[in-house]
Formats: sequence, C-alpha cells, structure tokens
Amino acid sequence: MIPLDEARRFVLDGCVRSRSESLPLFDALGCVTTATVSAEGPVPPFANTAMDGFAVRAEDTIDAPVALRIAGTVRAGMSGLDNPVGVGEAVRIMTGAPVPPGADAIVMVELTEAGADDETVTVLQMVPVGNHIRPAGDDVLTGDEVLRPGIVLTPGHLGLLATVGATHVDVVRRPRVGVISTGDELVDDGSPLQPGQIRDSNRLTIRALVAESGFEAVDLGLVRDDEQAIADALLAGVETCDALVTTGGVSMGDFDFVKVVLDRIGDMRWMQIAIKPAKPLAFGTITRVSDGTKVPVFGLPGNPVSSMVSYELFCRPGLRKMAGFADAELDRPTVMAIADEPLKRKPDGKVHFARVRCWYDIDAGCYRVCSAGAQGSHHMAAMAAADALAELPDGPTIETGQAVRVRLLRP
Ligand code: AMP
Ligand code: MG
Repeated sequence: MIPLDEARRFVLDGCVRSRSESLPLFDALGCVTTATVSAEGPVPPFANTAMDGFAVRAEDTIDAPVALRIAGTVRAGMSGLDNPVGVGEAVRIMTGAPVPPGADAIVMVELTEAGADDETVTVLQMVPVGNHIRPAGDDVLTGDEVLRPGIVLTPGHLGLLATVGATHVDVVRRPRVGVISTGDELVDDGSPLQPGQIRDSNRLTIRALVAESGFEAVDLGLVRDDEQAIADALLAGVETCDALVTTGGVSMGDFDFVKVVLDRIGDMRWMQIAIKPAKPLAFGTITRVSDGTKVPVFGLPGNPVSSMVSYELFCRPGLRKMAGFADAELDRPTVMAIADEPLKRKPDGKVHFARVRCWYDIDAGCYRVCSAGAQGSHHMAAMAAADALAELPDGPTIETGQAVRVRLLRP
C-alpha cells in the first residue's frame, strides 16, 4: 500500500491546467479567470441621483424651509440636458437619473412638501453640495483593473463585468468529464432485477458529484465486463472529453478489466492506497488520437461509497487543478472537530474516512461529529446522510471528546 499523499501527488501531476477560452458572462460562473479586465469608461458613467426627489442648487436651500419653482422632471434613462436648474428652481428627479445642469444637490422627496398647484415644492431642510449625488467614476474609474487572472468568478464579479460593458470573459476551460460504469451485474434502465443483478447507482452519483463540482458531466453509459467493450468506450470517451471517470473493475477480481485495459491503452498506474474505503485506484492518461492530448482517466473502485470517497480524494482535486484552481482551493474546507461519540476503527495501516455528520456547537465554540451510520463501503444510506468525512488516522477508535480532522462536504 502507498500513502494517500503519494497517490494524490501522482494524480495531481497527471492533471494539468486546461487551455483558456472566452465565455459569455453567465456561462463563466464558477470558472477561474485568465486575463486582466480594465474599465474602458467610468462607472457610473454620469453623475446621478441616489434618491427620488428634487435636484436643486444647494445654496438655494440655506434658508430652508424655502419654496422653489418646479422647472421639469428627469426620469432614469433621460439625458437631463433639457432640464437645467436655475436660481430658485428645482427639477423633479428619479433614482438613477442624471443630475441636470445647474444642480449640485438632491433633496429626497421625504424632505419636501408639494405645493398645492404642483408648480412649486417646499424644501424643508438645507442640503449640502453633493447631497445624494453619485459622481461619475464613483465606483470604477476609467482604466481601473476590475478583474485579474486567477479569480473564481462569483455572481458579483459577473455583475461587475457587465457593468463595465464586458459580454465575454477569458477563463480556464471548464472540464468536460465523461462518466462510465462497468459491471455485468448492473441494471440501469429500471427493469426488474434478475437473480444476481443490482442497480447502477455510481454513474448517477459520480455525474452528480462532477456537476456539483461545477464541471460538465457527460454520461458515457454502462459497459459490460469485457476488455474490448471497455477499451472501445475509453478510446471513444477521450476523443470528446477532457477527463474520464470509470467505476468498478479495478480490484483483484478475475473480471476486473478496467485496470487491465488502462494498462494496455494508456499510461496508467494501479495503486493500492493506505485508506479505507477506496483502497484501489487506477489513474493515468490516454492519448487522444486526434490531437495528442493526454486525457486523465480515473479508474475508481466499484463499491458505491468507495467510488464517492475516491472522487472526493482524487477526482475533485484533479479536476479542479485542470480548471485552474490554486493549490489551496483544491480540497474541501477542513476543520478540527470533537467526536460526540466513539468513531470506531481498528489499527490496519490505513487512514479511515468515516462518513459523519458534523455541526458547529455555538455554545462550546467548536465543531462536533457523530457517525452517519453503518460504515461499510456498500452502505449508501450512511453516505447519503453524511455531510462530512472524518479522517481517522491509523490506530484505535477515536473516543468521545477526542479531536479529528473533518472534510466538510457541504457548506
Ligand atoms: P468492482 O470494483 O467492480 O469489483 O465492484 C465492487 C462492488 O461494487 C461490487 O459489489 C459491485 O456490484 C458494486 N458496484 C460496481 N459498480 C457499481 C455501480 N455502478 N453501482 C452500484 N454498485 C456497483
Ligand atoms: Mg465489477
């Protein structure tokens, strides 16, 4: 068995950052930027009002309360140039409308009283110059850098880009990940189970994990335990995908052909890793015939819990590296937590990743964990109930009150 760190390093070395591409803003949510974006003009582009009210000359309000003649109305979307504010005048103005020539302050409507004739307005309080005016360039100045390379795009970033007039943004390509399940026992069409058959769940969970990671999941189907069928599926998959994930067929069984095939058609290493679950992993690259790209292939174990844990420990960081995330961003947030009950295990030379529930104990100011249920690598109920993986180092049971490292699977 090899240590987890060594397996992980090997996987990460095989996952290189993808090329950059220009995407429409919305499609780039969650992607990592590759270029600097500078503002070509100021934001806001013109001085405008932050309030509904009246544009006035501040000096006209010194003796407030004071009645001013209403000289017009400026709505959002108008230029305001046709509605200058003269001495003793006010122009009715709506939030976002340009401040008209002559005005240097806004009085919000709440601090005014309409005249009976609608031709005058009484300003109830004096206002200073600049009151409620958002000057041009107040947010972003011409030439300001609004984005640099290496930023993970959030909705706020997309809004900022739209504000400065961008329609597209340069980002690291989002990996397109082909998912294949293997096994003669698997049924994936809802038909009644014959003796010896089980339902294919891995393809769904792995595709969901890929999607949850923010990447494009491609369903490449269920493949029988047949060397030629597996080879055909993998060779076809690398032509259209940036990475492949398979489940099953990497253990010690007589029909575990995935590792055999990967060894033959790819540059693959089959690993026995000192972890439980998810001990076996085949990882390597297959060269795409059409352009020579080395496409990473993750051969995950077939047990449903093992495949999900293996995805967490190897695929997710590897795919995130391909997507341009920085080293510190490759893994889930990790916290130290106090065991709320014994987390059972025996010494066996492996690090165990126990499926746990984790919560923050506000009164004690610490995280706590308890088991999410039965810990076999086929126990999907506990996996489904888990919101974290507790890292139990080799040794005896973690007793109540002891601290463990925990990877949070959900925020
Ligand atoms: P394998 O790694 O192919 O030896 O499979 C290990 C165990 O996982 C066996 O009990 C399989 O039946 C089960 N298994 C393999 N693939 C899947 C799948 N796609 N969905 C659910 N269980 C699976
Ligand atoms: Mg199998």
